[in-house]
Amino acid sequence: MDVDVLNKLRDIVGEKHVLNKKEDLIPYMKDASFFEGAEPIAVVLPGNVDEVSKIMKFCNDNLIPVVVRGGGSSLTGSSILKGEGIILSMARFDKILDLSVEDRYVIAEAGVKLDVLNSYLNKYGFFYPPDPASSISATVGGSINTNAGGLKAAMYGATKEWVLGLEVVLTDGTIIQTGGKVLKRSIGYDLTALFIGSEGTLGVITKAILKITALPEKYGRIMVYYKSISEAGRAIANLKNKGITPLIAEFMDKISMDSITHVHGLKFPENAEYLLLIDISSTEESLDRKLKDAYDIISKTDNIGIKITTDKNEMDAMYQARKGLYSSHLNERSSPNEYVVIADIVVPTSKLPDSLKEIKNKIEEYNLKVALFGHIGDGNIHANIFANINDKNHMERVNAFMMDLGRIALEHEGSVSSEHGIGMEKIDLLKEEFKFKKSERNLDIMKSIKNILDPNNILNRGKLF
Ligand SMILES: Cc1cc2nc3c(=O)[nH]c(=O)nc-3n(C[C@H](O)[C@H](O)[C@H](O)COP(=O)(O)OP(=O)(O)OC[C@H]3O[C@@H](n4cnc5c(N)ncnc54)[C@H](O)[C@@H]3O)c2cc1C
Repeated sequence: MDVDVLNKLRDIVGEKHVLNKKEDLIPYMKDASFFEGAEPIAVVLPGNVDEVSKIMKFCNDNLIPVVVRGGGSSLTGSSILKGEGIILSMARFDKILDLSVEDRYVIAEAGVKLDVLNSYLNKYGFFYPPDPASSISATVGGSINTNAGGLKAAMYGATKEWVLGLEVVLTDGTIIQTGGKVLKRSIGYDLTALFIGSEGTLGVITKAILKITALPEKYGRIMVYYKSISEAGRAIANLKNKGITPLIAEFMDKISMDSITHVHGLKFPENAEYLLLIDISSTEESLDRKLKDAYDIISKTDNIGIKITTDKNEMDAMYQARKGLYSSHLNERSSPNEYVVIADIVVPTSKLPDSLKEIKNKIEEYNLKVALFGHIGDGNIHANIFANINDKNHMERVNAFMMDLGRIALEHEGSVSSEHGIGMEKIDLLKEEFKFKKSERNLDIMKSIKNILDPNNILNRGKLF
């Protein structure tokens, strides 16, 4: 069967766009999670929507599972195979097709990297706000499929706020367009929204119409250090309570600061347990006043050091270090057998002080090494757990801790997954969230939608459910 599959795929996309040598397949058996994927029958790289359509029809007719792959930066095992199948790489969908500053949209193919998109838009004084720390490798299609958030979600929200329309190839090969170039429409069920966060389980996104906005004129930064985790949370709650929405509000603990010092050489006060990094954006004329307003609120929290900077080099260096924090954490592992497993919860910002305190207590209760950080401006807390995935007992403890963290989020009216999605990792947590809300029917509805769009369950089998 494999030979026939390969030949058929070669007929569709051309010989050189079907990879099947072992050494070419190995990179596609991993994403950024700790999961090991199955070896694909082939990796196929279509170059246009008609080729995607033919591949999907062929795979659907022959019941061949397909995993769509963007940048492969999933942290939940969402972009690798969980069994036999092919990987459909969007790497050749790398073109920015259209820009209208007047109508505030850009049209990009699904494989365009977010940093490439923003370098292009910045030349016109605009940007596309979803800004996952992985933006150097994350693609338009991948970030739509995980409803990515990132650093600037504190001000601009997650990807779902920025997608106007999509071109999608369905499993039977049908090509559909959803949404469009206008900001408003009222035409029944929102099919664009349905594909956002669907983790490659419903269709292949080939193109997206994305909203853009003007770059902030100016911004400055407040760095503030704490001994108490709840005080750090209180600073964000207080800021928002007074009507201030930061451009960025990031949080990190001592393990994270140390890791940045080790990798990037940036220094932090010795006695600091937690750092908040808060960017305030404004016009040139009013930046000083807005920074001072924020400073006045934050300085009233019980901190051990606070400073303001508008030095671009200093701000850029710290921003890059924050974006590279996951890699810096890898440097803190005690052995190569250790992996970093990421919990990704979110709570309303008013609940941050209590939630953070409970999380800290949970870490002590489970006696795990955990680095806490996250996009705290929108209530998102990441817990990077240093885990020995070959030690069954240890992994049971890690999983129990993840479940408890999810429960803390739910008890504070938040969610078990903020921006990384479910993949293979958080399937039990997804069930837990619906159970907690006495809404287990949600899962049935989701499965029914999956069944309509992918009756043979060929797209990203074994993920989400
Ligand atoms: C260091 C690091 C930092 C990160 N920081 C953040 C962060 O700050 N915020 C955040 O939200 N996430 C973050 N992530 C997670 C991840 O990068 C994001 O989820 C990202 O949006 C995934 O994009 P990708 O192109 O790599 O997608 P992939 O990993 O390739 O795929 C993700 C999912 O989308 C599906 N998919 C991909 N392309 C398509 C398509 N065209 N059509 C249909 N399905 C598709 C895949 O099948 C898979 O289910 C981080 C990851 C890393 C490694």
